[in-house]
Amino acid sequence: MRHVIIGGGVASITAAIELARRQAGEIELYTAERYPYYFRPRLPYFLAGEIAQEDLYVHPLSWYENKGIAVHLDSKVERLMPDQKRVLLANGSEVPYDRLLLATGGVSFIPPIEGTDKKGVFALRTLDDAITIREYAAHCQEAVVIGGGLLGLEAARGLRALGLSVTALEFFPRLLPRQLDAEGSAVFQRLIEGLGINVGLQAETKSIVGKGEVRGVVLKDGREFAAQMVLVAAGARSNAGLAAEAGLRIDRGIAVDEHMATDAPDIYAAGDAAFRGRAWGIIPVARAQALVAAANMAGDNALYEEVVPSNTLKIVGIDLTSAGTVTPEDEGFVEIRRSDPEAGVYKKLVLKDNTLVGAIVLGDKALARKVERMVTSKAQLSREEAEALL
Ligand SMILES: Cc1cc2nc3c(=O)[nH]c(=O)nc-3n(C[C@H](O)[C@H](O)[C@H](O)COP(=O)(O)OP(=O)(O)OC[C@H]3O[C@@H](n4cnc5c(N)ncnc54)[C@H](O)[C@@H]3O)c2cc1C
Repeated sequence: MRHVIIGGGVASITAAIELARRQAGEIELYTAERYPYYFRPRLPYFLAGEIAQEDLYVHPLSWYENKGIAVHLDSKVERLMPDQKRVLLANGSEVPYDRLLLATGGVSFIPPIEGTDKKGVFALRTLDDAITIREYAAHCQEAVVIGGGLLGLEAARGLRALGLSVTALEFFPRLLPRQLDAEGSAVFQRLIEGLGINVGLQAETKSIVGKGEVRGVVLKDGREFAAQMVLVAAGARSNAGLAAEAGLRIDRGIAVDEHMATDAPDIYAAGDAAFRGRAWGIIPVARAQALVAAANMAGDNALYEEVVPSNTLKIVGIDLTSAGTVTPEDEGFVEIRRSDPEAGVYKKLVLKDNTLVGAIVLGDKALARKVERMVTSKAQLSREEAEALL
């Protein structure tokens, strides 16, 4: 049985390792990138100059070879041919498969803002992006980051560490609107500003200005920020082009069923490229989906169950974890909080029917780990037990 995997990210690698563990047959992995698998969450550290390129790689190529996984770098797949059970590589060669996994990931979303085509506008998704941004930043004094989410702030910290004056702009009235409530966000903002990052809230970008090269950012309310570079961190979209061109069903991503199977025979999808009800764009989901896809490719009958999302900010000196439902809007939730803004501490647990369904932990690393596990395993907890935890 010949398994072909398209992609070199976490979904691809997880599936390849699982197929190897199951001794499922031949495993051929084709990735457009020039580098062995690296962990995207570490890119901001690389951008900041805190780790070397080699430190990003999870394993050397020989590690995969020893497991029976053939990794083909710099091997972009140009076209799928589901009728012939083949894929066409950019170099013109055709690769046959018995079972195919599409794990083509995501691409940075660039909102329709005037001036995003100017020299000095970037987005951070790949190692090549990070290398290019670092090189460009060496000639800049000021940067604007459009997007006050996790990635935007981690990238802002990276640029700050390179010595630039950095402003992070967030469309919503608070930072990390998906991970924090208003009170927690206020505590968090003080910590971010303490790192020397300027924060602009309710910031709707009108245009990126400059003659050919970036010279600044103008907001719809008239605020202006001087900058020689702009980093757009406005989320990612499924990279579903190959699948769409081949006629597979698309629904904000490559549509999959609970087996992670697409509507084409013997073609599966997993990770940021796949779509099933919701696009999380996070590693725990990509991993869980890849394990299910690999099991089914190997002939098993595995079903995907939605995982509880959790996120951890990776900024040195700020420990923030947010998991599950943190800003419930319906009735029936119990929220328990502890806040100490001076110490940079904010903790909140959210219960429903004596189950821990969500948590924010800022400034308490040990508790964060424990609580994250409890949320993802849907731990039973009474109000009194929750209060004692904080
Ligand atoms: C800077 C940054 C920080 C992040 N931090 C976190 C974090 O802390 N926690 C978290 O949970 N998530 C984080 N994420 C999101 C996380 O990285 C993604 O959810 C995850 O990478 C998705 O994995 P994937 O394998 O589906 O796709 P990707 O990692 O995007 O990999 C897709 C792969 O497919 C390849 N590919 C695409 N098209 C083709 C083609 N035609 N032919 C061959 N190869 C192709 C690409 O080159 C790439 O190697 C972060 C993302 C970024 C960019």
